[in-house]
Amino acid sequence: MSKRGMLIVLSGPSGVGKGTVRKEIFSQPGNNFDYSISMTTRKMRPGEVNGKDYFFVSKEEFENEIETGGMLEYAQYVDNYYGTPLKYVNEMLDAGKDVFLEIEVKGAMQVREKVPDGLFIFLTPPDLMELRQRIVHRGTDDLETINKRMHQAVAEIEMMQNYDYAVVNDEVPVAAEKIKTIIRAERWRVKRF
Ligand code: 5GP
Repeated sequence: MSKRGMLIVLSGPSGVGKGTVRKEIFSQPGNNFDYSISMTTRKMRPGEVNGKDYFFVSKEEFENEIETGGMLEYAQYVDNYYGTPLKYVNEMLDAGKDVFLEIEVKGAMQVREKVPDGLFIFLTPPDLMELRQRIVHRGTDDLETINKRMHQAVAEIEMMQNYDYAVVNDEVPVAAEKIKTIIRAERWRVKRF
């Protein structure tokens, strides 16, 4: 029987640049892991593609997936559902492939419970003011949403201790390289626990 793949979880506060770092990692050739596309009920942003950035579904469809046990994890975040469909992840892991999730922290903790031998990496902002500036400059959120996201971010930073590694996102290519180095090193690990 072939070895089961490794589940890699990149998490951290929204606005820290998880999506940007993840895209940087996947824009480069030679990664031996696949990205798990999440499901969400939030509206599509300009430039996003259904089935590539997310599977965009209705609240009813999402709740149906939850009820039928179709989600590895899910969270409600700023009034929308986000979650990881279980089927694809299981198929890849069973085939011995490593799978990469980019998710917020509540979901990451659910994965930690279910898959304790996963690799959990926390992306942190250099500081909170800079995080606020990044969210503001992204220009896609109104002030109320920005404040909600900030409040959530402070709580999330305190959660860093639940992770195996923390990577500061000061420069995207550097952070991406550090994450790839961590993943490579974990593949050579002899002792896990
Ligand atoms: P955004 O709306 O900016 O695309 O994402 C908001 C937050 O949801 C980000 O922190 C993103 O990482 C997180 N997120 C994206 N997909 C998932 C998922 O499948 N599960 C969970 N728990 N969070 C997700």
